Amino acid sequence: MFSDYGNLTVCGHGYCRACLTSWTLSQKSDIVCKKCRQLIPINDIFKASNEQSFSQMKQNLVTNYLSTSDLDFSLCKTLDCCSIIGKKKDGYCKCRVCGYSTCTLCGVYNNDLHNNKTCEEFKKPKDIFKALIVASTQWAKENWAPEMSPISFIDENISLTDQSCPSLVKFYKGLKVLGINPDELLNDNQKYFFAWHGTVEQAISPICWDGFDPSRRSGQVHGPGEYFGWTAAVSHGYCRTGRNMLVN
Ligand SMILES: [Zn+2]
Ligand SMILES: [Zn+2]
Ligand SMILES: [Zn+2]
Ligand SMILES: [Zn+2]
Repeated sequence: MFSDYGNLTVCGHGYCRACLTSWTLSQKSDIVCKKCRQLIPINDIFKASNEQSFSQMKQNLVTNYLSTSDLDFSLCKTLDCCSIIGKKKDGYCKCRVCGYSTCTLCGVYNNDLHNNKTCEEFKKPKDIFKALIVASTQWAKENWAPEMSPISFIDENISLTDQSCPSLVKFYKGLKVLGINPDELLNDNQKYFFAWHGTVEQAISPICWDGFDPSRRSGQVHGPGEYFGWTAAVSHGYCRTGRNMLVN
């Protein structure tokens, strides 16, 4: 098997860097070799990871350990901070070390829509768009690729606050055709998913207002349609020189 990383020092099984990294990031405790279930030495993981994915992996392990142990404290979820922020029942609280907040109950972090709200109120605001923004912001953070430079900001599409916005009208029309009650959309994760859409900078505002325009499609390698991606890194390629991506 080809491998750009090499073989694990204990069992000799080979992995490529990307596979080893995504495997270690998906594990909650005791990271073992996928092939023989022997514990992977931390040095092997260190050599295969970049700085960010290594911190993320350590943080995942510590956070998971705390959530299943009797110790009554929670950690800040900001990468590389990981300070103690409070007790497990405290809810959304601000870290005194890095200044960003984490919810000790639901694990949401750096999302100030959670401020002064219980996790319930935060996850199901009355307004469908507030709820969609909360859910998509969280999705974007969780589905960013560790090898890409970090997200610098997430903007909401303010066009959607205008009832005459054509893309809003299309959205409701689509739900109607599918027989979905807008208020219940987010209660059922079989009915929706989020995806990335990478495009050139100039196209972003028109898409936010008008929605997708079938006459402007380009590079239709898989046949006609709009293209959306699960993988941030792949969609980002379609931005060319642009630095902004849409979450749909
Ligand atoms: Zn691989
Ligand atoms: Zn092995
Ligand atoms: Zn912190
Ligand atoms: Zn919460």
